[in-house]
Amino acid sequence: MVVRPQSNGMKALLADVRAVLTSIDLTSSARHLQNVSTALGIDRPPVWADPAFLVLLAISLSPRNAIAYELLDPYPRWKYIRDYLQAIADLDRNDLEWIARAIAQVLDAHDRQRSNVVMDFDRLMGKQNGRCAICRLPFQATSQAVLQRDPFRPLWHAPLELTRPEVDHIKPISWAGENQIENLQLLCRACNVAKADGVRISPNREAAVAVLDIDRIPRMHLFRLLVWLVGERNGQCEIGGCRDRELTIRPIHTEAPLVRSNLLLACYRCSPVSKSEVAHGNSLAQER
Ligand SMILES: [Zn+2]
Ligand SMILES: [Zn+2]
Repeated sequence: MVVRPQSNGMKALLADVRAVLTSIDLTSSARHLQNVSTALGIDRPPVWADPAFLVLLAISLSPRNAIAYELLDPYPRWKYIRDYLQAIADLDRNDLEWIARAIAQVLDAHDRQRSNVVMDFDRLMGKQNGRCAICRLPFQATSQAVLQRDPFRPLWHAPLELTRPEVDHIKPISWAGENQIENLQLLCRACNVAKADGVRISPNREAAVAVLDIDRIPRMHLFRLLVWLVGERNGQCEIGGCRDRELTIRPIHTEAPLVRSNLLLACYRCSPVSKSEVAHGNSLAQER
């Protein structure tokens, strides 16, 4: 454990830790929180009941074998922590035991949450039929998996990297966290990135690329347009009202620039790729 020099010793630190782990009084706990985060070098602003803060606190005060704890280990987790703290702090035995158990509880809860995420991931994958919740493309799609070559489709020949599934919080979480499965969905990496920084497409960017030929518009910009449009149209194909089909964007007027007002959200059944587009796509493929 690294304790900052400005902290006034282990005993005082553990008293602060104890106060943080028991306190329900927000105002008096603020000082203890600040002391703990300073002493342990936790650079995250200490927010009361922030699970990430508590986890950082717990792993700062635990030995390795308590952090990477084996479920089949006959020796209890809290005892590893107690032994470790005992060796470095002169504390009353009861206090020591209490703190060790509280820290072990934080680590237990963290482990449970991590295994929940794995289970949630599998459940979401089944619920979404192995497809991204925004663009509906199958995860880990290869260029062959995208049967039709479509110049308006950002994933036209995407690398695997962009179609990797990622867990997304539908409503962004505060640090206090909201990890219930109702608030989770799986997105392909490209949609996740586009959603994160591009739901509000920068007008400057949009103006700069609007007049380019389709093959020169950056793929991430096409993604931002797609993600924006899917949000606007609730994921529903505008031609046939279809849901749960692979989605793409189509310009309403081909001679007009590719801007938000000129876009239509369509599925491939209602708007198959035209021969000329396929030819265009193929010639693009050869250029690369
Ligand atoms: Zn996607
Ligand atoms: Zn449709």
